[in-house]
Amino acid sequence: MSLLLPVREDLAGLEPYGAPQLDVPVRLNVNENPYAPSPEVIADITRSVAKAAPTLNRYPDRDFTELRYALADYLEVESGVRRAPELIWAANGSNEIMTQILQAFGGPGRTLVSFAPTYSMYHEYARDTNTTWVQGRRLDDFSLDLDAVARVLARERPAVLVLASPNNPTGTALPQEQQRAIMEMTRESGPIINGCPSATLVVIDEAYGEFRREGVPSALELLEDAPHLVVTRTMSKAFGMAGLRLGYMSAAREIIDAVMLVRLPYHLSALTQAAALAALRYKDSLMAQVGALRKERDGLVDWLRTHGFHALDSDANFVLFGTFEDRTAIFEALLARGVLIRVVGPEGWLRVSVGTPEETRLFTTALEEITR
Ligand SMILES: *Cc1c(COP(=O)(O)O)cnc(C)c1O
Repeated sequence: MSLLLPVREDLAGLEPYGAPQLDVPVRLNVNENPYAPSPEVIADITRSVAKAAPTLNRYPDRDFTELRYALADYLEVESGVRRAPELIWAANGSNEIMTQILQAFGGPGRTLVSFAPTYSMYHEYARDTNTTWVQGRRLDDFSLDLDAVARVLARERPAVLVLASPNNPTGTALPQEQQRAIMEMTRESGPIINGCPSATLVVIDEAYGEFRREGVPSALELLEDAPHLVVTRTMSKAFGMAGLRLGYMSAAREIIDAVMLVRLPYHLSALTQAAALAALRYKDSLMAQVGALRKERDGLVDWLRTHGFHALDSDANFVLFGTFEDRTAIFEALLARGVLIRVVGPEGWLRVSVGTPEETRLFTTALEEITR
């Protein structure tokens, strides 16, 4: 007996997206922090979850007030920008934040714009929320061309523009002058509503913000003067908590109010809130670790360049390197040696995450063997 299930026609036949999760010795494919939480962090998370467990018959604090205070304190220490806790919003990963933004600002008749090469998930959030997806191109050196941005804005009148900075998979952050120029260009470039041009919501995805190089500012600095700016962050990368699923944003009050209309009830579990609060108590030691990872990254870029490869400058915890006639063959040969990286980005390039010094050594040794 067969029957036809009414799955949405635009989803029919698609494969679910996801990087391979392979059990190999050296995993440098999804930009995780290579260091497991320290024993003191583990102990605090355990205590905090145990304390929350007896209250699990009740729904959690749906506005996660304490967590918003802790995130505001963290952002201040990390970037020097003080944001009021009410201007912070969190969800299960910055992926959920992005989906909530599109649920509130995208949808049928609305457009999301981005510039390739960039994070491939943006396309899926657009599809899932029935938002039209338009992708412009970056220049050949992967920087953003403001004239191209202006043209796409004029043509599409997008409701949302998303820019990863530092960008994934290329690694570099947008210069602050460009960010400022984009905030000006987008004040009236959005959909026409009752005859009036609205703004385009600009989402700067700072998933890798903590890894930016010395002197590279955060887009958080622009929030005060830009009511149409959203800066997203995550605990998945620098914070070493990918398994926790905690992403967040800071934005104007009106934007957070709109997102609160579409969020699922009690979307952030009491256990997530307790564990995130515990982890945030160790922000100082975590930030020291980020410093070490940055050094490791700069060392990896140097190594690649002195060994005849191209490697892009990186403000993130990964490096895009190449170029290879057959990048899949290089990927497979590394995998055969127990090193998993990522085939992503423009043809000929590969992306490797920054690991421990030992993992970097295993990667560079294997790469040298393969390409010698
Ligand atoms: C890894 C990554 C994220 C993080 O997503 P989470 O849902 O917070 O784990 C967001 N944006 C970009 C560009 C990323 O590479």
